[in-house]
Amino acid sequence: MSANSQPESNSLWHSWEIDQALNLLKTDADKGLTSQDVQQRLQKYGPNELEENEGRNPWEILLDQFKNIMLLMLIAVAFISGFLDLMAWQAGEFKPGEVPFKDTVAILAIVIVNGILGYVQESRAEKALAALKKLSSPLVRVLRDGKLMEIAAQELVPGDMILLETGMQIAADGRLIEQSNLQVRESALTGEAEAISKRANLILPPETALGDRLNLVFQGTEVVQGRAKVLVTNTGMQTELGKIATMLQSVENEPTPLQQRMTQLGNTLVFGSLVLVAFVVVGGIIQARGFGNIRELLEVSLSMAVAVVPEGLPAVITVTLALGTQRMVRHQALIRKLPAVETLGSVTTICSDKTGTLTQNKMVVQSIYNNNHVYHVTGEGYAPRGDFQFNNQTIAVEDDPQISALLVAAAVCNDAVLQQQKGEWRILGDPTEGALVTVAAKAGIEQDQWNSKLPRVNEFPFDSERKRMSVICQVEQVATGEASLTDVDPLIADMTQSQQYLMFTKGSPELTLARCTQIHSGNHAAALTEEQRQKILAENDRMANKGLRVLGFAYKPLTEMPSDTAETSEQNLIWLGLIGMLDAPRPEVRAAVQECRNAGIRPIMITGDHQLTARAIAADLGIAGEGDRVLTGQELQHMSDQDLEQQVDLVSIYARVAPEHKLRIVQALQRRGRFVAMTGDGVNDAPALKQADIGIAMGITGTDVSKEASDMVLLDDNFATIVAATKEGRVVYTNIRRFIKYILGSNIGEVLTIASAPLLGLGGVPLTPLQILWMNLVTDGLPALALAVEPPEPDVMKRPPFSPRESIFARGLGAYMIRIGIVFAIITIMFMLWAHNHVQLVVGENLDPQRWKTMVFTCLCIAQMGHAIAIRSNNKLTVEMNPFSNIFVLLAVVVTTILQLMLVYVPPLRAFFGTHWLPPAELGICIGFSALMFVWIELEKLFFRITGRTTV
Ligand code: ATP
Repeated sequence: MSANSQPESNSLWHSWEIDQALNLLKTDADKGLTSQDVQQRLQKYGPNELEENEGRNPWEILLDQFKNIMLLMLIAVAFISGFLDLMAWQAGEFKPGEVPFKDTVAILAIVIVNGILGYVQESRAEKALAALKKLSSPLVRVLRDGKLMEIAAQELVPGDMILLETGMQIAADGRLIEQSNLQVRESALTGEAEAISKRANLILPPETALGDRLNLVFQGTEVVQGRAKVLVTNTGMQTELGKIATMLQSVENEPTPLQQRMTQLGNTLVFGSLVLVAFVVVGGIIQARGFGNIRELLEVSLSMAVAVVPEGLPAVITVTLALGTQRMVRHQALIRKLPAVETLGSVTTICSDKTGTLTQNKMVVQSIYNNNHVYHVTGEGYAPRGDFQFNNQTIAVEDDPQISALLVAAAVCNDAVLQQQKGEWRILGDPTEGALVTVAAKAGIEQDQWNSKLPRVNEFPFDSERKRMSVICQVEQVATGEASLTDVDPLIADMTQSQQYLMFTKGSPELTLARCTQIHSGNHAAALTEEQRQKILAENDRMANKGLRVLGFAYKPLTEMPSDTAETSEQNLIWLGLIGMLDAPRPEVRAAVQECRNAGIRPIMITGDHQLTARAIAADLGIAGEGDRVLTGQELQHMSDQDLEQQVDLVSIYARVAPEHKLRIVQALQRRGRFVAMTGDGVNDAPALKQADIGIAMGITGTDVSKEASDMVLLDDNFATIVAATKEGRVVYTNIRRFIKYILGSNIGEVLTIASAPLLGLGGVPLTPLQILWMNLVTDGLPALALAVEPPEPDVMKRPPFSPRESIFARGLGAYMIRIGIVFAIITIMFMLWAHNHVQLVVGENLDPQRWKTMVFTCLCIAQMGHAIAIRSNNKLTVEMNPFSNIFVLLAVVVTTILQLMLVYVPPLRAFFGTHWLPPAELGICIGFSALMFVWIELEKLFFRITGRTTV
């Protein structure tokens, strides 16, 4: 970000007239800046970005890594070991050439490396996440070179003219040029949750406080309602938000469920090992009838402490999560909060919006009901080409003032813009509205022309709660000769009834019709009879039953601009007709719904649309079957929370709901113990998204506010993506559990083996701390990393979800660790006894009687290779699996084995690690014993299969 200061007197924009502000920034309210201006200003002021807060300083992040009980134990071990070495050194016990303090240095090095690794991972994860977040950075609508375009918020410069709409997060500070019912929530700046109304035509005293500058808008605040045109005055760090950015950016670091599980694991391991140490020390003292072997017992205790800590685990987990987020992004799911990667797999219920998520959000008008006639409209997409048919006959609607009046309402009471780009017709704005502009254009009613004939002077914007919108237009007179009110366009002359303003309303047919008292018929407004009302509602149901999204249209002539609220103004309307549009289901959703069902996940549709439309689409997608219960917003309104809780497990469709109902639905589901993923796109969806266990925002249609409140953003707005992300979440969690089983089984085996040595009176510690560190980091760490990328098991989406609150030891993981640890120990101890006796018998020039220790060390390492191969599947035998489906495990096994052999056969490494040369025959026996581990696990799988038990 450039350090250049931004436009002079940048804190006084509220005290100037609009023209003054425009002059100061040398810009044009109608055309915006030119591309050339933009380039220059971008150079001068830099991109519109807040400087990244450094957050914790690097030392703090580094120190945080050592707040872990296991690392603290390692540090204690390092110092005690150093102390013992110091005593031995002073007593002259070291042989010539032997390096003192080797273990201390190695342990401290590992502690530091682990700390640095954790530090690097943490900062990289943060950076990766920040980079991913940028992908979903908001787009803004801006006027440049006289054209409306969408650009990334970072590209804004002072002098740009931006257009704001409901739900947008404001991307820069600016002066209002025009506004309509603009309500902005400035809690990010002022802490005030209530939205405040803003007005363009105010000039305020220079000393006005920030919260009272009603003619300005500020970066980071949210448009709750209304629309506005804004002149960007300050960008980047020069905005009010930029000034307090450091305050806002302080990061909260709550432990994730996985971190909590890891703490639980660490505590259990440390506690367990301390108990075992006490047991060994007391047992050793009793056995020796005194403190004669206290030094050996101390060494054993130190080795046990090093053995119990899974030094490589944190790094493996971080890598797994990072890989998980990357895979999810490839599926178009952007994770905003890292814990979501692991918890996604636990989702039991997905509450999804209909429009755009289950359907394509490509609306095409198919049916019109007007003046007792049903018309069919042909054509595809947003291309304004198609016919109007009545009784299968193409008709010329241009000649029919009745339909034309309806289509004028559709074109004018509309915020979308139809554009042709590179030969393709596209809409800027809401697809529902785009379809309406298109259908009007098919009848020759061009939105542009009508916007100038009926310029909009005020509006009551659309809002999902009201489910309708109105615009108030001034009736322009034909500008020839001496204008009189009858000179208006003949098409609307009848509607205006000689008044100066026309209000057009469109919205949910039931609600709009309920506000009508008359109907437009022929060329005049007649009273709306009950029979007509019933006919219209019946036609609405008929269209909705076919899965069409239906809107109702009405108008009202006005003598003056309404100064009241929408509620009072939108009364006594004159009914125009119904327009029904098709929004086809996304083809891939059907399979995704089926996959959900197989995976024990319940899909639920929550929509603002009509219940019949919702039911037709839900039935088509398999979300609801025949006769399934549909609950409407109205029914929900009258239900108590207890009643709703009784119903939530039976209802698969919620129709005509308002965003506030979504919150109640999530809460009711959660009270029933469900783990809920909920989609949302509007500002008012934010509370529900925050409340849901996984809040999912729409990447394309979602408002910035909803994205900010979410855990995950769907880059393609697609329901199938949620299911794909859920599957990835399950895979990640299964793999994490898999390598935890793998690593900890080995740790327990090591601890028991070491503990047994003094109790069996073998004389000496079988493994030095250095060797244990090698095992835990390298020979266990590499295969564990390979296991982290294990592909999904075929049944991953064929079993019910697991509770996110389950303990790390749940579902047999604790039992597995202990069982396998004991088997591991039994095999190694048996081998250790044999080796200990054997080495006394086989003596040779190169052979050291202490080499039994190296044999035990090698046996433990190689046995883990068999474990890695076998643990790839919980229930499939290794011979039944394709060894190349995770080539990394094979590679890790080969590389690790070679490294282990180097420790035995490369003299400098041998000297450093304190190992001994082994004759090939003894190495062979080592490998033979190690293989028993593999055989055992395979036999376990067979046993579970025969007895019909499953392990996970
Ligand atoms: P979802 O299914 O994703 O909840 P939805 O589009 O059905 O989305 P809303 O956008 O809240 O839900 O719309 C609710 C109702 O409001 C629609 O069924 C329709 O009757 C009406 N409506 C939607 N868009 C507009 C609009 N632009 N102008 C007027 N009325 C609208």
